[in-house]
Amino acid sequence: MLIWVGLTNNELTGLNHTGVLHIAPTRGQLRAFQGDSLLFTADSVKVSPGLVLVAAGKRYQASAPVVFKSDCGRFQISSLRRAGIAQPVYEGNLRVHSASRGLRLSLELSLDSYMQGVLAAEMPASYHAEALKGQALCARTYALRPRLPHDQDLVNVCDSYLCCQYFAGHGANLDPRIKAAIESTAGQVLVYDEKPILALFSSNAGGHTENYENCFSDPVTGAFPPSPLPYLKGVPEGNYPGLKAPVGSEQFLAYLYSNSGLGTKLCADNWSPKFHFHHRITADSLEAHLHHNIEKLMDDRESAPYVIPPAGSGRGRFGHIKRFQVLKRGVSGVAIELAIETNLGQWRVQKELLIRKVFANPDAGIKRLNSARIFFQQKYDKLGLLAGLDVSGLGFGHGVGFQQQGAQGLALAGMNYKQILSHYFLGARIAQY
Ligand SMILES: [Zn+2]
Repeated sequence: MLIWVGLTNNELTGLNHTGVLHIAPTRGQLRAFQGDSLLFTADSVKVSPGLVLVAAGKRYQASAPVVFKSDCGRFQISSLRRAGIAQPVYEGNLRVHSASRGLRLSLELSLDSYMQGVLAAEMPASYHAEALKGQALCARTYALRPRLPHDQDLVNVCDSYLCCQYFAGHGANLDPRIKAAIESTAGQVLVYDEKPILALFSSNAGGHTENYENCFSDPVTGAFPPSPLPYLKGVPEGNYPGLKAPVGSEQFLAYLYSNSGLGTKLCADNWSPKFHFHHRITADSLEAHLHHNIEKLMDDRESAPYVIPPAGSGRGRFGHIKRFQVLKRGVSGVAIELAIETNLGQWRVQKELLIRKVFANPDAGIKRLNSARIFFQQKYDKLGLLAGLDVSGLGFGHGVGFQQQGAQGLALAGMNYKQILSHYFLGARIAQY
């Protein structure tokens, strides 16, 4: 089976490329086709917006998408940057076409080849074979059913972890353990009601996974919350010895955080440093950054409806911060509505990803919080003014569906990939596509 993958820009935020692309095969020559006709053969090519190609000292103005094929089946785009990878190498054929705001790049390759790149980028090859197989099924199923439809982009999926699953090309050598995970589960996908499931996954769920509808919007209408998905329900990752508080409460999060020394006796994903985090932010620093973060969210068409100012206030009038409070939590304790009390009234921010972004703070080294499974300790000075905030949290990522570090914990405890997948995707079954 072949798949089309949209290659995003260097920030992984969109499919438009506005700069000049440098494309070269890793060995041999590159052939450029427009339709069925060969435009040229060359060692490398530069492609500029407007679909102007320069190769071997000659200039070509293409009027339709150009497909590049490499002699060795692999090529590099030296103008493309991917975090942690010196120079991504891609397998397959590359289609470049003109868009209103630059160029678009789509890679055509086999599903297995795509999965090799996804697994290499998404999970360390040193993980247990059963965890790798679980990830392989998630990756294969996701390719068949991405969260956001990419039909209008003329691709099946994109390569960004901000939208789909991370695909950063192919390394020089494929790790045999990744190859084995893909081959030993060949053709297997997860289905519910005979259709591929939405196989969401994250890095570390911090002791409990979360319901789909508490973290994501409807991919078509944008409505939040969307209709629940029966197989994407939060599940416990352990027996929580000595827990007195209700699961999902703020006290539950404090219990997980303070008992992290118990390791996997506490829960399956509590072996990783990503299990918990902590930040201390001064009131001055909060005042300096938080209202900018809020304004940034209000500037964005997608996030603006989820930032609710106090009556009579709005842009440019934020007020002095007095207190933070989580008004609504999901089944795992994830914050889905945050209140920020100021002297001008109460601001509210909804949705876990936006709540994570609200706390972006260069002084505290926060780009965005690792997760929204957070609880606060607030410090006040003698005058009763906020002096500082401690944010403690669990996990890394949205925590919906399969979690990689929990899968590793469960595999080490003796579960096979089928048991692991039925733990994370309730009622889903494995089928051959
Ligand atoms: Zn995507």
